[in-house]
Amino acid sequence: MTSLKGIANAFIDSKAQELFQLSDKLWKNPELAFKEFKAHELLTNFLEKEGFTVERSYTGIETAFRATFGSGRPNVCVICEYDALPEIGHACGHNLIAEAGVAAGLGLKAVLESSDAPKGMLTIMGTPAEEGGAGKVFLIENGAFVDIDISMMVHPFPSTIVQPSMIAVKQLDVTYTGKAAHAAAFPWEGVNAMDAAVMAYTSISALRQQMKPTWRVHGIITNGGAKPNIIPEKSVVSYNIRAPTSTELETLAEKVTKCFEAAATATGCQIEIREPNPMYLNLKSNPFMSDLYFKNATELGFTEMSMEAEVSASTDMGNVSHIVPSIHPCYAIGSGEVNHTREFTAVANTPEAHTATLTAAKAMAHTCIDVLTTGGMLEKIKLLKN
Ligand SMILES: [Zn+2]
Ligand SMILES: [Zn+2]
Repeated sequence: MTSLKGIANAFIDSKAQELFQLSDKLWKNPELAFKEFKAHELLTNFLEKEGFTVERSYTGIETAFRATFGSGRPNVCVICEYDALPEIGHACGHNLIAEAGVAAGLGLKAVLESSDAPKGMLTIMGTPAEEGGAGKVFLIENGAFVDIDISMMVHPFPSTIVQPSMIAVKQLDVTYTGKAAHAAAFPWEGVNAMDAAVMAYTSISALRQQMKPTWRVHGIITNGGAKPNIIPEKSVVSYNIRAPTSTELETLAEKVTKCFEAAATATGCQIEIREPNPMYLNLKSNPFMSDLYFKNATELGFTEMSMEAEVSASTDMGNVSHIVPSIHPCYAIGSGEVNHTREFTAVANTPEAHTATLTAAKAMAHTCIDVLTTGGMLEKIKLLKN
């Protein structure tokens, strides 16, 4: 291990207790997409106290932030997420993602302050609304990544995978409008919008037999009427549609849209289809950065690590990876619990999860050190078209 990596490790270890507390506070105050006010305050105050230059509400997005140290290029970026899920709290462990981003940043700052400091600067990007809302897409549109040379984040998961194959996703919200009527006295006067929602649901379920194994379609009915004695005049369904690439996703979305439209025709309802968020693109993991991360994570003691594995989830980090060389490794916490369950929420705040998070943070810091100190490495990374 080079001494720079030793400096990063020692500093992260010296801050372990504070980092645990930071993550614990996030976990105890789960906040939803674009409403991460407490997290924004907590993280920016912490980073300012640690000597970073902090820009709150970065690029005009209220709960985004940027914390920088040093100046010039290369500019290496570690990314924090901190939004939670409705009803089930930090069931995706984004409290740990924030902890890892801050920890890696602290370690790298110590390296940039050392006597052997490599040239370059460090950015910690606070990115809200990953769980729907596409926070990173808006940050990209606002220019947040124009001066970033490489970016990375880690994500807690049931297993450890350096290059998870995360796929593209789009959301479609469909509103059916029918006509209310007394459901017992004059049902023939009504146009049943809930029937349209149910027909769309079952048509999509039938379509699933003809879908590729790599495609995913899943949805909920968010409005199914007001009262059983009124023929529902309005219903709303919300669907996620996923495929390995944006092109394949458009093919699938067209098939799903036909199911939505058929249900409107069958029931005589009006239909309105909305796409509330920008599309999340598939994740493109940079292979050189992945190799460095794999090597560093192995040296730090991660075991049972796969280089690649299928993960049919999606992330707005995918969009970042299309414009900046990036990695988004997953690391194991818990004992088999899976994301978006109450069980995962529970394991996202255990001492073991914090320990794994700090190891993943060190692996990110070491990967950045390798990029900053290995001649020609950044050029090699950037040569690969993202
Ligand atoms: Zn999630
Ligand atoms: Zn997540």
